Amino acid sequence: MLELINNTLHIIAKVSSSKCVYLLRMNNWDSEIITIYGEERDKYTLLNHSLIDLHNTGTVDSDSVKRLNAYKLLCRSNSINSVFIQDIFSIRERNESIYLVMFGSKEDQFGYEFTDKIIAIINILSFQVKEMLELKRYERVSIKNETGSQKIPGKVNELISEWEKSFNSLLEISPDIIFILDNEGNFVLINEPGLTLLEYSVDELKGKHFTQLIDAGNLNQTVKAIDEILSSDETKKFDTTFFTKYERAVRLEISGKKISRKGKIIGLIAFGRNVTVEKNYEEELKKIKPKLVEAERLINIERKRTNHQKFLVDELNRLKSEFISNLSHEFRTPLASIIGFSETIESDPDLPPEMKKEFNRVILFEGKRLAKLINEVLDISVTDESAATLVKSEFDITEVLKNVIDALKFFADEKEVELIFENPGEKILIEADKESLTKMFDELINNAIKFTDENGRVRITVSNLYRELEVIISDTGIGIPEKDLPYIFQKFYRVSRPGIEVHGAGVGLVFVKQIVDLHKGLITVQSEPGGGSSFIVRLPKFTKIEKTEVES
Ligand code: ADP
Repeated sequence: MLELINNTLHIIAKVSSSKCVYLLRMNNWDSEIITIYGEERDKYTLLNHSLIDLHNTGTVDSDSVKRLNAYKLLCRSNSINSVFIQDIFSIRERNESIYLVMFGSKEDQFGYEFTDKIIAIINILSFQVKEMLELKRYERVSIKNETGSQKIPGKVNELISEWEKSFNSLLEISPDIIFILDNEGNFVLINEPGLTLLEYSVDELKGKHFTQLIDAGNLNQTVKAIDEILSSDETKKFDTTFFTKYERAVRLEISGKKISRKGKIIGLIAFGRNVTVEKNYEEELKKIKPKLVEAERLINIERKRTNHQKFLVDELNRLKSEFISNLSHEFRTPLASIIGFSETIESDPDLPPEMKKEFNRVILFEGKRLAKLINEVLDISVTDESAATLVKSEFDITEVLKNVIDALKFFADEKEVELIFENPGEKILIEADKESLTKMFDELINNAIKFTDENGRVRITVSNLYRELEVIISDTGIGIPEKDLPYIFQKFYRVSRPGIEVHGAGVGLVFVKQIVDLHKGLITVQSEPGGGSSFIVRLPKFTKIEKTEVES
């Protein structure tokens, strides 16, 4: 094919009496003389470079060439006085054109008359060039075809046009953006989805440098990534943010590869996947992740707290049912005695008076026990509901303790338990609720006697300290196992002692603790099974005085 073209060029040179005629292929970044007739090609290299600039601005004609400095230089050094240049074939998608260039020694050598004369030959040349280029392209496709299909001349044009269509369709249907940059980084080609995404028209983007579209924040990193692509033969990936014409940020995942020819880098082809939505989600997720972790932690804490509360509620329910069954048992036993003995007295008028007296004593004892139980339960609910307002007065605690001990003497004697009261023999004044303290000490001393066997001993010691008084109720009784100690002040808690039945509903110590707390005092217990128990109560004597002292 080149042979035919050379012949045609020879004819054109003859007809035009040119000094030199050649075919020049140009695209955005380089130029190449396809064939030349006349002077040596090296002389035109200088001019070719300037012609690329003209080609990129889209105005390559004889007049524009005449204005070039490089042309003027060429004229001076080669006695050239006229020029003819015409685009005879173009490949739009690559912005590539083949130009016919002629130089002559005479001025106006290539005027209108001349152009009319050779227009037919130029058309032939144009057709030949087109044939040559399409054949070349077909050869390239054939090389890639693994089945090794043969070139069938009649089918060449058809195949090439189909291949081109397919390639163009590929560009257009690709959801990704595809673009080509020249070796300086200017846009040379971009597909339709790319234009849509970047909101530019082809004309606006053509010749624009890619850095003009990159967000300043990641410009350095992007330039570095492009440099890496250009210095490698591999396809490389990188992420960057482009700014569209209307300043919208578009985040792209780019895969790029350099394009080189004859060992020279001539540009870069890249595919860009729009990852704006994914990246934005990722960032949002990163931002809210610490909040999520925190929320999860709070939920876990809340879950633990709820579990704990559930455990407490379950435990309370369990204690409540245990309390109700205990309470009914505690009520039923004295009631059975009371009813039984009363019925006997009623039904048997001949009952000897001593028996009647003994039965009455039992009825009285059980009745008192029942009343005490009812009072304890009521006391608990009263202190529960109203945080019990204390009725305070000033009194001698030694005297209160003495009265309580005297009242319980009968019970202690009955159980053959020795009751010892140790006191400093002086008045110990306290400002407190006398009635509650009386009940509280009665409960503690009563328990001490209750849980102490025959010949045991209960010692009550009162000490007058600086601002407080201390009462220790110590017994030599059955003691409390260590595992039960933390719970004995809880509502309805009773130490289970298999084989030993002791009356009670598990509310006595709850009441004791409430009264001590209301007086801002402290109660502790030391005990060991079989070794007896000591309940130590400390109470402030005058809360008012303390307050004044703190204030002053
Ligand atoms: P209750 O009202 O049933 O007597 P309390 O609340 O007074 O119950 O006492 C709770 C538990 O503490 C009782 O079940 C009892 O076993 C134990 N306890 C209280 N005081 C003594 C003590 N002095 N010696 C041994 N155990 C005691």
